[in-house]
Amino acid sequence: MTPLELYSQQPSSTYEAKLHATMQLLKDVTNHHHPLVQATSLGVEDMVITDLIQKLALPIQISMLDTGCLHKQTLSLKTQAELHYGISIKVFQPDAKAVLHFVQENGVDGIFKSPAIRKQCCHIRKLVPLQALLAGYKGWITGLRREQSSFRSNLQEIETETTQQGTSRIKVNPLIEWTIGDIWHYVEQNSVPYNTLHDEFFVSIGCEPCTRAIALGEDFRAGRWWWEQEGARECGLHVHESSSENISLLNK
Ligand code: SF4
Repeated sequence: MTPLELYSQQPSSTYEAKLHATMQLLKDVTNHHHPLVQATSLGVEDMVITDLIQKLALPIQISMLDTGCLHKQTLSLKTQAELHYGISIKVFQPDAKAVLHFVQENGVDGIFKSPAIRKQCCHIRKLVPLQALLAGYKGWITGLRREQSSFRSNLQEIETETTQQGTSRIKVNPLIEWTIGDIWHYVEQNSVPYNTLHDEFFVSIGCEPCTRAIALGEDFRAGRWWWEQEGARECGLHVHESSSENISLLNK
């Protein structure tokens, strides 16, 4: 049984209200914080956001990080989504020299040696390109949900970040209240294209070496960096610096 079959008939009782509120939020932030970018991982939540953006015809750029380690299914979905929506997804890649240097220093399996080395890889392949992806935008949109992990339980719908340049930028999390049932119900109702790895219970999809399928009942995030202690499983993609609360690290 796939997640689509398992969850699509289980929307929450407030699904319609959440959908309406999410659409309104996307319209409001577009009106007040233009230009915006969606940083998509092409995971199912991000596909729901992309679908809503296209349905509402909002002028929001869709961009992604290609770390060089993505599954072929993810790259194939990029092409499928571009054809489905008639859009071009902008791709940001890591610096080739930095990647080469990292591999020469740590070996091809260096990421498994320690969380510190693994985070260096995430820094080179994700965090640095993310800064390029976000440059020039007043805000970005994510598909994060509170239900996904304890790290995400305190998410706010709109958060304010201070950029490396000292300016302010918003981060919009329109799906924080959505359940897994809400997500797959939307996908089924709207025929949203999705990564076929989800059918194999890859619930959270990132780079190929760092992602595995999970068993029913396992935490949604259990398939990411599973060889590390739970507290160390952070890539820093959702780092935001704030004067009041130090650094918050969340997973992607
Ligand atoms: S998720 Fe894994 S392969 Fe991808 S950037 Fe992080 S450590 Fe490297």
